[in-house]
Amino acid sequence: MERTLSIIKPDAVKKNVVGEIISRFEKNGLRIAAMKKIWMTKEEAKGFYIVHKDRPFYDSLTDFMSEGPIVVMVLEGENAIAKNREIMGATNPANAAPGTIRKDFAENIERNAVHGSDAPETAAFEIGYFFSSLEIL
Ligand code: ATP
Ligand code: MG
Repeated sequence: MERTLSIIKPDAVKKNVVGEIISRFEKNGLRIAAMKKIWMTKEEAKGFYIVHKDRPFYDSLTDFMSEGPIVVMVLEGENAIAKNREIMGATNPANAAPGTIRKDFAENIERNAVHGSDAPETAAFEIGYFFSSLEIL
């Protein structure tokens, strides 16, 4: 069993496709161990994406991530980190495979509907950023 952090980003929450996205995780065998809807401040978004602080898109990305509510989840299952990223599809929806979340719901490389941790170390940091151990079942 592995755990990963998933975020349904502000663009997808605004489109009212939270249920459709969660259903894809469930259909692929991932289970929700924790979930909540929150609205990050710019500072909270900057802290979450601190690994990208030197990238040219950092300011724009953190504006986007704090423009409206998001749904944050801990997903659990076998190979959850890799499986989640497979279900999500490529960062740029133009390159995302058919049937992936980003192919179906993302607008562009920045407004790309979902986030998923990319390694066990980042998953641990990201889960701890949003959830206490008492909130994860
Ligand atoms: P995420 O970390 O959100 O799951 P990812 O791992 O596929 O996505 P990263 O390289 O970690 O992609 O980039 C983090 C986020 O920054 C992307 O999901 C996207 O919202 C945004 N982003 C990435 N590259 C660009 C870019 N070239 N221009 C604008 N925004 C970008
Ligand atoms: Mg990433």
